[in-house]
Amino acid sequence: MKKILLSIALFTAVIGCKAPKSINTPTIDRTVVNLDLLNIKDDKVKVTIDPEKFTTQTVSFHIPKTVPGTYSIDNYGRLIDNFKAIDYLGAELLVVKTDANSWKIDNAANLDKITYLVNDTFDIDGEKGVFSPAGTNIEKDKNILLNLHGFVGYFDDLKEKPYQIIINRPKDLFGSTSLKLSESVDFEKAPNSKKDVYLAQRYFDVVDNPIMYSKPDTTYVNVEGIKVLLSVYSPNKIHTAKSIKPQIQKMIAAQKRFLGKIDNTSNYSILLYLAEPEKLDAKGFGALEHHTSTVVILPETMPLEALNSAMTDVVSHEFFHILTPLNVHAEEIHYFDYNNPKMSQHLWMYEGVTEYFANLFQVNQGLIDNQDFYKRVSDQIESSKNYNDSLSFTYMSKNVLDEPYKDEYYNVYQKGALIGMALDIRLRELSKGKTGILDLMKKLSEKYGKNNPFKDDQLISTIVSLTYPEIQTFFDNYVTGSTPIPYDQFFEKVGVTLATEEAPTSFFLDGQVPYIDGNPENMKLFFRKGITLNSFLKKLGVQNGDVIKEINGTSYTIQNVYDLIMGSQSWTEGDEVSMLLERDDEEVLLTGKITVPTTQKTTIKEMELPVTDMRVKLRNAWLKN
Ligand SMILES: [Zn+2]
Repeated sequence: MKKILLSIALFTAVIGCKAPKSINTPTIDRTVVNLDLLNIKDDKVKVTIDPEKFTTQTVSFHIPKTVPGTYSIDNYGRLIDNFKAIDYLGAELLVVKTDANSWKIDNAANLDKITYLVNDTFDIDGEKGVFSPAGTNIEKDKNILLNLHGFVGYFDDLKEKPYQIIINRPKDLFGSTSLKLSESVDFEKAPNSKKDVYLAQRYFDVVDNPIMYSKPDTTYVNVEGIKVLLSVYSPNKIHTAKSIKPQIQKMIAAQKRFLGKIDNTSNYSILLYLAEPEKLDAKGFGALEHHTSTVVILPETMPLEALNSAMTDVVSHEFFHILTPLNVHAEEIHYFDYNNPKMSQHLWMYEGVTEYFANLFQVNQGLIDNQDFYKRVSDQIESSKNYNDSLSFTYMSKNVLDEPYKDEYYNVYQKGALIGMALDIRLRELSKGKTGILDLMKKLSEKYGKNNPFKDDQLISTIVSLTYPEIQTFFDNYVTGSTPIPYDQFFEKVGVTLATEEAPTSFFLDGQVPYIDGNPENMKLFFRKGITLNSFLKKLGVQNGDVIKEINGTSYTIQNVYDLIMGSQSWTEGDEVSMLLERDDEEVLLTGKITVPTTQKTTIKEMELPVTDMRVKLRNAWLKN
C-alpha cells in the first residue's frame, strides 16, 4: 500500500472475448457468485451467493474485517444490507448476525443461496474510514470499482475452494482486471447486456483481483517480457490511458531492468480511478498492491506532469511489492485471517524496503540524479523524526492494528525505507561493494516464493545466514532493538555527509511536503503530527494536531484549501494574522504578525574524494549497481 497525503495530491494539482458454448453454472464443488450491475438502485448492487450443499446444522458467512496490505480494521460487513438466506423451496431461513461482518444461518442443510445488497464507500462522507484504493464505487452505467472483498464473502469451510464469479453488466462497460475471464456472452434476460464469468482458485484470489468496470479507456504496455494493462477512469475525460502510457512504459522498463531475473510476472494490471476532489468522491489518494494488479486513486485535477510523477512514485512502489510481501512473506500473511488478523513483525521489509526500492531504482536507472535521491532520503529522515525513533520497529509492526502503534504506521514509508537503506549500505560495505539488499531480496524470493511463507520469528536469522554474521548486530540494534539509526555513520561509509541548516520555506508547504492535511471524514484541515512546524507557525503558537477553523476571519476546509495556499503566497512580513484553531475540543485564537517562515533542513552532500577512494567505489556500487 502507499498512502499519499491528501494535501500533497491536492497541492500538486495546483502547481472482448467470444465463447460459443453456453454457460453452465454447476452447483457443486464451487461457490457461485452473481453480481447484478444491471439493476443498480441507490448505488447498491445485489449479490447472490450459491454455495455447495452443506451437511452441518449451522453455517457462518463472513465479509472481511480487514484485507492484506491495508494494515487497518475496516469492517466491510458494514456495507451489507438486507441479508437473506433462502432454502431450496424459496423460503427464508433464520439468520443471526453474530458480529459486524458475520452471519450465522440455521438449517444449513436446506440452504440454497444467500442474497444481500452492497453499498459503496466512495460517496459516503469519510468513506467509513476505508482507504480509497481498498474501497468500492458503484455509479450506475459509469464506473463500478469492484474491490471484491467489499462485495463477496466466504463460508467457513469453503474459503480454500474455487469461486465462479458471474457479472451481469451493461454491454458498454468493460471489466479491467487480471482475473481470468472464462466467458463473456450476451445476457439473454436483458437487452444490451453481457454476462462475464470469472474463475478464482480460492477466496484469496477473489480478494487479490479487483475489477474496474467502466467505458473502455485502456491500453497495453508490452515491455521487457511483461504485458501491462493500463485502464483509466477519468470522469471528465481530462486524462487518458494514451496520455499516461509513455511514462508507465518508461517506468516499468526501468523497474524490470533494475529487478533483473528476480521478477517473472508476465501480466499486470494498473486500474487508475481519477477522483473529483470537489465532489463527494474518493479522498484517500494512493494505491493498494495485489499480486498482479494495483488499484490507484488520484485526483483528476492533477496536471499530466504531476500525475505522471505521482504514478511513478505510487505504481513503482506497488509493482515492487511483487518482491515483498507477495513473494517473501510470513505465515501471518499467507494464511491471512480476514476476520481475526494476526500481524507480522516485518513491516520494515514489506513497506520499508519496497519504498526504498521505489526511490533507489529511479537513481539506479537514471530517472533522477544522485542529488534528487539524497533529497528524498533527507526528507524521509526529517519526517521520521516526528515518530518514535526509539521504538522497536518489529514490535510496532506486530501491534500496528492497535493504539498507540497505529499512529506510527506512516513511519513505515520513512524510517522503514531508511532501515532498508542502512541495511543496503552495510551489506555493500561487508561485501566490498559486490552485493546489497536487492541481492538479499533475490535470495529470499528464491528460498521462499509466493507459496512458501517463512516463520515470522525466523526471518532475521535466515537473513543473517544468507549474508554476514555482523548483520545480526544491525537487526539487534536498529530493527528489533530501540537504538535510533546513526545515519551519519552509515553515510560516512559511502562518502556522503549529513548536515543541518536553517533554510526558508513556505507558510503551509515545505517544498512538496505540506504542514497541513485534510481529514476526509469531516473535511477539516489540521496541522500534521508527522512534521516539525516552521518558525512562523511555531512563533504564532500553532501545535501539531491543531484543527484549522478560520484564518484571518475566513473558514477553511478541504473544499477551499487551495484558496488558503494560494492566498498565503501574497502574505507580507509584518502584517497582522489571526488563526482560530481547535485544540483538544477547545477553541484557541492565535494572533500575531507575519514573519518569514524558516525550517531546519537536513542536507546530504557528496564528499570531495578521489575516484579511487573506497568510499566512492561503495557509493557507486550502492547507487548504480
Ligand atoms: Zn505498500
